[in-house]
Amino acid sequence: MRVCVVGAGYAGLVGAAGLAAAGHAVTCVDADPDRVALIAAGTPPFHEPGLADLLRQQVSRRALRAGTDLAGAVRDAEVTLIAVGTPSLEDGRVDLGQVEAAATRIGAALRDSTEPYPVVVLTSTAPPGTTRTLLTPLLEAASARRDGADLGVATSPEFLAEGSAVAEALHPDRVVLGAAHPRTLDLLAELYRPLLTPPAETLRTDPDTAELTKYAANALLATLVSFSNEIADLAEAAGVDVVEVLRGVRLDRRLSPVVDGVRLEPGVLAYLAAGCGFGGSCLPKDLRALLAGTALPLPVLRGALATNRTRAARLLDQLRAGLGGELAGARVTVLGAAFKPGTDDVRESPALPVIEGLLAAGARVTLHDPVALDAARRALDDAPVHYRADLAEALAGADAAVLVTAWSAYRDLPALLPRTTLLVDGRRLIEPAAVARYRGPGAGAASSPRRNPAPS
Ligand code: NAD
Repeated sequence: MRVCVVGAGYAGLVGAAGLAAAGHAVTCVDADPDRVALIAAGTPPFHEPGLADLLRQQVSRRALRAGTDLAGAVRDAEVTLIAVGTPSLEDGRVDLGQVEAAATRIGAALRDSTEPYPVVVLTSTAPPGTTRTLLTPLLEAASARRDGADLGVATSPEFLAEGSAVAEALHPDRVVLGAAHPRTLDLLAELYRPLLTPPAETLRTDPDTAELTKYAANALLATLVSFSNEIADLAEAAGVDVVEVLRGVRLDRRLSPVVDGVRLEPGVLAYLAAGCGFGGSCLPKDLRALLAGTALPLPVLRGALATNRTRAARLLDQLRAGLGGELAGARVTVLGAAFKPGTDDVRESPALPVIEGLLAAGARVTLHDPVALDAARRALDDAPVHYRADLAEALAGADAAVLVTAWSAYRDLPALLPRTTLLVDGRRLIEPAAVARYRGPGAGAASSPRRNPAPS
């Protein structure tokens, strides 16, 4: 099929490359000409494992093109996907400005399309009701077409996760399709069919259900993280190690089923782990949007967000305690800027409030990240931070290191960390006994000399 993807960001570009690999003719349109030039040359504009190879292949066989001409690309397409940003407003609700602007321009372009039934799909994350009450009327007005007659309007929320997005785009575990008309759903099922191999499933439903499904999925993951972090607080208070506690919880067959004598560890268990909280461009934003859009009390979900907001401060408390109560003048190396490993995305990364807190307390901050230093520099503006790409250099002379992103390179810390340097392990990546001075969320360390020997 001929496909246009409007918005070539983390979600749109990876999705577009996946559809190109599936045999479709895809044109990516983005408002940023620099981004378009990179994509057209087969170069990813951001870090995502596997994307460079996939992009090079699809661009060189001309299955994937990139441009800035939205009207031309939409006019030639059978299906147009909207993958523009849906950032938070001040009050937590979603800013749908990019969706509105894109929809208006897409609708206008469809006036000149000869397609009898072009389909426009919202893949950006947007609150329930957006497709029905905003997108459909906008498209109908701008295109002079009618949904279900000579236009198909749908939503298919994007579920891919940064760091593993390429594999997920090529082999999605589910496709959720929401549309008011069966003809639209049939066309979209055809679009995704080459990517869906059993046991992957397609959920055909109405747009509101599809939109809420995306929010529900992210709310579950966010809640698991905050649940784990509250258990970490309890573990600390009890002087025990949350890693052991949660390992015991995970050994329940309902969480890690035993099949043919082998215990399976479903991926969701990665969220049943203590750390310094969730960040990124989706979980915090989507949970805020869900809560800002309702008057329902929803104490579990509101609590998940509130608990998450306290994590950076707790990490700083552990650091302060480990350094004898004073951060002013301390040389602190922050390990990791990306909100999770495998990406250079620093949006709402826990590293940002940790760094801001350190600077406010008068610490001297060095930041290391294998891929996200440029993005961190932009996010931190002109903050007085020393940026280091070399790990050993970043650690040299540090009084303390705070591990924020679980990059696999940090597993080597026990060999690299000077004995006198305190490690505050915000991801519980390192065995406490493997370093001389260790603290971390739920490490039970302060009160358990067995696990966290006093600084030598
Ligand atoms: P992003 O900010 O990285 O990318 C958005 C892109 O859209 C930008 O490159 C911008 O230049 C472009 N754009 C905006 N308006 C445009 C217009 N009118 N015409 C052409 N281009 C335009 O955002 P993202 O992280 O890719 O997220 C996009 C959507 O997907 C959001 O709703 C997000 O919640 C959702 N989502 C993101 C992820 C993820 O991992 N990042 C995962 C699932 C869902």
